[in-house]
Amino acid sequence: MTFTQAVETIREQGGNDIEHIVADYVKLKRSGSGMKGLCPFHDEKTPSFNVSAAKRYFKCFGCGAGGDVIDFIENMEGLEFHEVIYKLADRYNITIDKNSRQSSREKIHSDEEILPGIRAERTEIRKRGIVAINFKGNTGQFRPSMPEVTVSPPLSNNQAAVIRKYTGTCCFITGGIDWPPVKDSIKAAIQNNLTVNILYPGLSCIYEKEWIDYILPEVGGRISRREVIELLAAIPDNLTRSIYTTHFSENLNTNNN
Ligand SMILES: [Zn+2]
Repeated sequence: MTFTQAVETIREQGGNDIEHIVADYVKLKRSGSGMKGLCPFHDEKTPSFNVSAAKRYFKCFGCGAGGDVIDFIENMEGLEFHEVIYKLADRYNITIDKNSRQSSREKIHSDEEILPGIRAERTEIRKRGIVAINFKGNTGQFRPSMPEVTVSPPLSNNQAAVIRKYTGTCCFITGGIDWPPVKDSIKAAIQNNLTVNILYPGLSCIYEKEWIDYILPEVGGRISRREVIELLAAIPDNLTRSIYTTHFSENLNTNNN
């Protein structure tokens, strides 16, 4: 069958089989209609990791990790999507057409190709729920204690999409980087529904600021009002956007007064 057909079949068969597959990695106990165990994606003493064959998914109420059988193996084994498909295709004796195999391999750029370093860090990123994005050419000395990837500025849309697979929050380390690539990076991140913080050196420690709080006082003089509005317009969700817009205009008024 084709690669796409194989994905569908695996979602179906692997979904029904998800309790057995997860049980290869996690000690599970029956709980209601599903199974429960200690989450493999974060440290915990009381089980909050649930697996349900009926619903064909796993979900941790401790760290928020969740998904289908493909997501589980992807994260557990650190494999790319297509690698999981080939692995499970073997398990279910599915033969993927050679031509289809070739073309899907060509089509799929692995996460590691898009964002070098993600493979080594992704388990930790999921565990911690945040990733630091450092920029090549950064002259700052500050380093947060969190998993980190380094990109050539700006962060691209594809790179932001890869990060979004593992966490909803990123934190930029911007020391010494010009505003235009920082702006494009913020835009790529918020367009992929990432919450963006910026690392900010304080008096006695380093802490994170939300990007909007960062840009107004810190680079306020170097950016135009139009640029901030452009960034705000990139926020996909209307409600969030209106909150940011209100926040922005309030801050702008304060700064002007
Ligand atoms: Zn968890």
